[in-house]
Amino acid sequence: MIQISAEKLLDSMFDGVYFVDLNRRITYWNNAAERITGYNRSETIGKCCSDNLLRHIDTNGRALCLEGCPLMSTMQDGKTRESSVYLHHAFGHRVPVSVRTSPVRDDNGQILGAVEIFSDNSSSLQILHEYEQLKQDAYLDQLTAVGNRRYGEMTLSTRIYDLQTHDIPFGVLFIDIDHFKNFNDQYGHKTGDDVLVMVAKSISFSLRKMDSVARWGGEEFIVILPGASQVIVKSVSERIRILIENSFIMAGEDKLNVTVSIGATMSIQGETVETIIDRADRHMYLSKNRGRNRVTEDEDNE
Ligand code: GH3
Ligand code: MG
Ligand code: MG
Repeated sequence: MIQISAEKLLDSMFDGVYFVDLNRRITYWNNAAERITGYNRSETIGKCCSDNLLRHIDTNGRALCLEGCPLMSTMQDGKTRESSVYLHHAFGHRVPVSVRTSPVRDDNGQILGAVEIFSDNSSSLQILHEYEQLKQDAYLDQLTAVGNRRYGEMTLSTRIYDLQTHDIPFGVLFIDIDHFKNFNDQYGHKTGDDVLVMVAKSISFSLRKMDSVARWGGEEFIVILPGASQVIVKSVSERIRILIENSFIMAGEDKLNVTVSIGATMSIQGETVETIIDRADRHMYLSKNRGRNRVTEDEDNE
């Protein structure tokens, strides 16, 4: 059996971990804690956690180290706590983190200190912020809660600018639901709307956070994949196709599902929003002609 020290294990964790003793003095600080806070071990071990260090605050700006330190409360009542707070980074800015604190006990059950595990929330907050922005600027599709066509056009323009100025390529997928008119005719418009929401979610959940999705028309979506290679574009397209094929909504006892036809293409230097969409759309139509529920990419375009 491979023996791994507890310290090595903790240092491999993605989450920040530190221990404090009963005086709230830091006795352990792992690698992820260094990464998330910008403070290294030599700056933290032996310090009290409220000593000009992390200075946790809540969303109202309340200084938790002075009033409401979760570590202190955990050591007092032995209970585990979870909260979302902002810590102070060595560079001065605030980092949103999810914090869990638990008591650490000796063999007799006596509390020796507490452990705090924290994870960086900044990307999820950034996404939330982006969606807030989308809502404010009317870039959100009301039904499916992904970006609307205007958002899609704006994002494509930005990606084209990145391609021209920084040579960063991107991929575009044009996704159209198969035989959706029949689906509406058979199950009604409301059920059709539910399926549109399901499809939008299946697409969103299969993307990285830098990718974008927009509802381009009634039952059409586009996906923009910045920095993606042709291989990635192909594999993301297939993943989306398979996920949608395997998603369903319940209508009474019946499982209802749809399939999509996808056209995938890579950006070309010097082109416009219209030309890239036109190419992706033409590839999508090839997928329709070839039997639907499939992906056509640049190489298949003969
Ligand atoms: P194809 O496989 O060739 O794409 O067939 P299709 O029936 O999907 O294509 P068509 O473009 O003829 O029909 C699109 C249908 O999508 C028409 C309309 O009933 C439906 N649709 C468009 N927008 C909405 C919407 O917001 N809600 C619902 N429920 N249906 C919509
Ligand atoms: Mg269509
Ligand atoms: Mg369609």
